Amino acid sequence: MGKIDKGVGCNVGGCSNPAVRSLSRSQIGGSGLSVSGEGRRVYLCHDHYKVWKKATKKSKDLERARW
Ligand SMILES: [Zn+2]
Repeated sequence: MGKIDKGVGCNVGGCSNPAVRSLSRSQIGGSGLSVSGEGRRVYLCHDHYKVWKKATKKSKDLERARW
């Protein structure tokens, strides 16, 4: 987890930034990001990683609020 091959780009549609993080496809679900490509790994650039982090944090907060 975490190590990115050189030349791998962000999988988010329309984004061509270099990837800095890899996540599993299931982690992307619910974050609102639309990722392209096949496979179980999804690569995100720094910007989209931040977006993802924010989105997942939000949904976790919502889950917590239900308790
Ligand atoms: Zn991106």
